[in-house]
Amino acid sequence: MQIMVAKRAGVCFGVKRALDITFKLAKEGKEGLYTLGPLIHNPQVIKKLIAEGVVPIEDVHNPAIRTLVVRTHGIPPSVYAEISKMSYNLVDATCPFVKKAQQYAQVLKEEGYQVLIVGDKEHPEVQALLGFAGDDVIVINSAGNNGNNSYSIPPLKNKIGIIAQTTQPVEALESVFRHVIARAKEVKVYNTICDSTALRLEETKELAMSVDTMIVVGGKNSANTTQLTNLSKGICAKVYHIETADELIDDWFTGSEKIGITGGASTPQWIIDEATEKIREISLRR
Ligand code: SF4
Repeated sequence: MQIMVAKRAGVCFGVKRALDITFKLAKEGKEGLYTLGPLIHNPQVIKKLIAEGVVPIEDVHNPAIRTLVVRTHGIPPSVYAEISKMSYNLVDATCPFVKKAQQYAQVLKEEGYQVLIVGDKEHPEVQALLGFAGDDVIVINSAGNNGNNSYSIPPLKNKIGIIAQTTQPVEALESVFRHVIARAKEVKVYNTICDSTALRLEETKELAMSVDTMIVVGGKNSANTTQLTNLSKGICAKVYHIETADELIDDWFTGSEKIGITGGASTPQWIIDEATEKIREISLRR
């Protein structure tokens, strides 16, 4: 059995940066160290952080906070304003690429564009972006696509500024743009999709085409990992999404000659390594 691991499997630049910052603070023995929401969408990493004394918290007013880490998804200006009233330290681990998207949303708003965000309205990154984008902002996600690139979009203003959640596929941005350009007088687009996501998706696509079984490693609550799973399912006959090596079952590999392994942007290398090692062991038993 041949096992191929995607080169870009595992944590991206932004998540690695946020993890490094937070584990360093924990190592320094900071008391009252909290993250605003789970730092990343990976239950195993969250467990490890809690063991180091770093607890996810939702309320920025909690009196126990001495240091609060903002995760890669960022926060809206209203939450920064609330935090500025508090006496604790803020450590901002918002990914620089997400910051850039927030800046573009603000610039578009200030230039009089109605901002249209291509992304998932419930995702924390989009929730934060909304705060920079003005009251008339619209969010469009792939679920709003009725097929044949027909979107349910409310009436648009004359000037539309489009940005995307950093983890969206570029096809989603292109498709929304094609729809909007037919309806607005002026359209400005900032491609805020992160290269790391686009490259990971492309690499996963190529890998899924060349294997007979794909293993996607990452949190079941990770949008990015789920996206990789869905993409693989459209290409490869056998695709399994696991969080840890313990979930791997020998039978999945019966009749498989080539196995592809990939992982989402929030999947640490050690979890991918454990899964790879277990698949090697399974292959030796066959
Ligand atoms: S996927 Fe890209 S934008 Fe998102 S955290 Fe990672 S590097 Fe940053």
